[in-house]
Amino acid sequence: MAVNVIREKCKGCSICVKNCPFEAITMENKVAVIGPSCTGCGVCVEKCPFKAIEKTEEAREVKDLSAYKDVWVFAEQRDGVIMPVVFELLGEGKKLAAEVGCKLCAVLCGKDVEGLADQLFEYGADKVYVADHEELATYRTDAYTKVINDAIEAYKPEIVLLGATHIGRDLGPCLAVKANTGLTADCTRLEIDPEDKKIKQTRPAFGGNLMATIVCPNHRPQMSTVRPGVMEKAAFEEGRKGELIRLNVEFKEGDIRTKVLEIVKTMKDSVSLTDADIIVSGGMGLGKAEGFDLLKQLADKLGGIVAASRAAVDAGWIDHAYQVGQTGTTVKPKIYIACGISGAIQHAAGMQNSEQIIAINTNENAPIFEIADYGIVGDLYKVIPAIIEELDK
Ligand code: FAD
Ligand code: SF4
Ligand code: SF4
Repeated sequence: MAVNVIREKCKGCSICVKNCPFEAITMENKVAVIGPSCTGCGVCVEKCPFKAIEKTEEAREVKDLSAYKDVWVFAEQRDGVIMPVVFELLGEGKKLAAEVGCKLCAVLCGKDVEGLADQLFEYGADKVYVADHEELATYRTDAYTKVINDAIEAYKPEIVLLGATHIGRDLGPCLAVKANTGLTADCTRLEIDPEDKKIKQTRPAFGGNLMATIVCPNHRPQMSTVRPGVMEKAAFEEGRKGELIRLNVEFKEGDIRTKVLEIVKTMKDSVSLTDADIIVSGGMGLGKAEGFDLLKQLADKLGGIVAASRAAVDAGWIDHAYQVGQTGTTVKPKIYIACGISGAIQHAAGMQNSEQIIAINTNENAPIFEIADYGIVGDLYKVIPAIIEELDK
């Protein structure tokens, strides 16, 4: 929907200016003028006492949606290593492609990365589009956006999936804007509507209290980001082959507005929560930062790693890199031991798909027990040393 000021009716009262929530209206020569930040919300139409603003149907560009086919996965690589989320997206993309009846493709960008295409074929890609260029050696928004957007225009994928990594979260919205389409971020479920073959993208909304299913009916490609650890990894088939398509990469002066001067790697402990089979996670029930030392002892005994609830991170007891949940990492270990964690919906969103959940909590009514496979009601400072003692035996 768009809005239009009927100049002859406008009395210059400025009421619309004050009421526009997006500050999209200015007065010029005592007549209201709608600016480019107008979202078409329609508030001004209601507020104008002189009926001088009308709704108009936008002359919407109708795309030929039938020209779009295939499911694409952005094959994010760093330093020549494909990110684990890519294999999960290939797993999900395969299912979607089978339901739509199209091919599964990967798009790979970087310098000297063509050799990585073999892995993508072995994890299910039928085609791999490769952009290999000096300027793509290190991720930069402008460079990757240009190359992938050019490929989208040329080959017209129906669905594009990206990992919700730092790079995917930067690249996805830029591509969506360029392609004039929508993007659903942080999807937890993707499915094809059997009626019209459009993708239904489900993600948590309103702080995780509601699951919203979003469709992109009139624009293509349909784009989603998915957080690492949410989807099943694709099956590996050694020696599987596919079609390699080399993209023609050319940059003009001004196409890339940033230069990488230096890469400074942080010296933080590297935490790979998504790869861990056993996670011992702590929350406010620990009572103090030192409580994590006890969890570390248990994690070490089990060959696992430590994680935390957001409340423990916010308390400054542990770094954000260890946070599990909606605004942290999504994990799916074989065993997740929740110690002194209440099981708030935002925490559960990041760990409820773990194979086995064990909860230790003093409060027998804590919500964590609703999703736990095994529950121990008790003080973690008594329960955990007892478990360690048993393990030592
Ligand atoms: P609490 O809720 O305070 O629970 C502590 C638990 O410890 C209690 O159940 C208590 O019975 C138990 N306990 C106390 N003493 C002991 C003891 N000695 N032994 C055993 N048990 C004991 N949270 C996340 O974790 N991850 C997220 O990503 C996340 N994202 C969020 C995003 C949004 C938009 C919002 C609004 C919130 C988010 N939260 C997130 C916060 C979430 O709502 C909860 O506040 C948080 O998970 C609570 O952490 P907790 O379970 O450690 O603490
Ligand atoms: Fe004109 Fe109506 Fe806006 Fe007043 S509220 S300035 S009459 S468009
Ligand atoms: Fe502002 Fe909404 Fe009116 Fe656009 S439609 S000018 S955003 S009040």
